[in-house]
Amino acid sequence: MRLSRYFLPILKEAPKEAEIVSHRLMLRAGMMRQQNAGIYSWLPLGLKVLKKIEAIVREEQDRSGAVEILMPSIQPADLWRESGRYDAYGKEMLRIVDRHEREMLYGPTAEEVVTDIFRAYVRSYRDLPLNLYNIQWKFRDEVRPRFGVMRGREFLMKDAYSFDVDQAGALRAYHKMFVAYLRTYKRLGLTAIPMRADTGPIGGKLSHEFIILASTGESAVFCDKDLLDLPVPGEDVDFDGDLAPIVDMFTSRYAATDEMHDEAAFSELPEERRVSARGIEVGHIFSFGTKYSEPMGAKVAMPDGSEQPVIMGSYGIGVSRLIGAIIEASHDDAGIIWPDSVTPFGAGIVSLRSDDAAVSAACEDAYAKLAAAGKDPLYDDTAARPGAKFASMDLIGLPWQIIVGPKGLADGVIELKRRATGEKELVSLESAIARVT
Ligand code: ATP
Ligand code: MG
Ligand code: MG
Ligand code: MG
Repeated sequence: MRLSRYFLPILKEAPKEAEIVSHRLMLRAGMMRQQNAGIYSWLPLGLKVLKKIEAIVREEQDRSGAVEILMPSIQPADLWRESGRYDAYGKEMLRIVDRHEREMLYGPTAEEVVTDIFRAYVRSYRDLPLNLYNIQWKFRDEVRPRFGVMRGREFLMKDAYSFDVDQAGALRAYHKMFVAYLRTYKRLGLTAIPMRADTGPIGGKLSHEFIILASTGESAVFCDKDLLDLPVPGEDVDFDGDLAPIVDMFTSRYAATDEMHDEAAFSELPEERRVSARGIEVGHIFSFGTKYSEPMGAKVAMPDGSEQPVIMGSYGIGVSRLIGAIIEASHDDAGIIWPDSVTPFGAGIVSLRSDDAAVSAACEDAYAKLAAAGKDPLYDDTAARPGAKFASMDLIGLPWQIIVGPKGLADGVIELKRRATGEKELVSLESAIARVT
């Protein structure tokens, strides 16, 4: 992409309402625009990152054996009456009436809809296990939308729903998601710690929240320091094999959010291993048995001919919230520092003299080669001052910058800058491209 043809509305100053760094940087970098409290338009740079996160989430869900569907954002109230949650959900639910006076709602989650799909088609234990997921916009009329995408009212969530014949199967489904989550966050450059969590209004017994430690996190969390360095399973992990040992490695160490915190158990840890911090909830998994299948009549025929309500779990990831979490975890005074896996462009090319033919030719050469190598470069071909170009490139946080000026070119070199460390090297254009690709 050439910057002269792109839409990157960078702001010199962050609007005052932005209280935390990720919100400030997202606004300044022209990633999104607030249209209403907690409701955003996604601008090109923000949308690119959102799509990359979504793609990683999808790959890991698919790898674990979950199957993608897409459920509607607007749901009928009647389904929620069947589960008993229509009244229970309260003011976070945005309720809508259509022209025929039918009650609808903008889905805050989708247990009811997915249970309805299941009961319409699945009849036999032979069709299980099954895990259906979707990546869809949700709406929750939060009391205090704030911190940008961290607590929006409209936000993108991946939500998966598992269906099993018995508790052992449900536990296997839970373990698969647990491991898929570990892999997902790791690929996003994050250390997410699974913590025992309250099951809240969804109900059930087994539940973990995946938490990123950050001073701006909304919840107080407590954990064993060892959890920060545990190995995350690789691509070759066998999702059909026994995942319990991996899950046990994480769950056998102390980790709890404030609602579940047990000070006595925590204080048994050696002092230097006690981490008491703030955290961002980037995912949440639940196993809740027959809470929805029972009242909604989602049953399967068992081998002995009897009919039984299916055992379910639900598994959420805050896809849009993750952008904020990644920035909270990876930035400096100059701006964002994207992990390679989600960077909106692979490298930036900065022309220091857009009116210099040799400089432009070198930039074009770099642009073509990086594009051919699949690096998706962003070429700042504008006539802006070098200082402003450097500030913008640092702000938007691409991992590499290739800076081309007439003086260097005369000596056969360009400047290659690594955003994360600030390290700069004078090298030939060829070796810069070799380094980046
Ligand atoms: P929170 O405690 O932050 O309100 P939650 O426990 O209500 O979140 P869940 O119902 O567990 O959220 O939804 C699954 C995931 O969706 C959460 O782990 C979080 O990452 C994300 N999420 C929930 N609410 C929001 C929101 N208002 N804005 C952005 N992401 C959200
Ligand atoms: Mg909530
Ligand atoms: Mg929560
Ligand atoms: Mg939650």
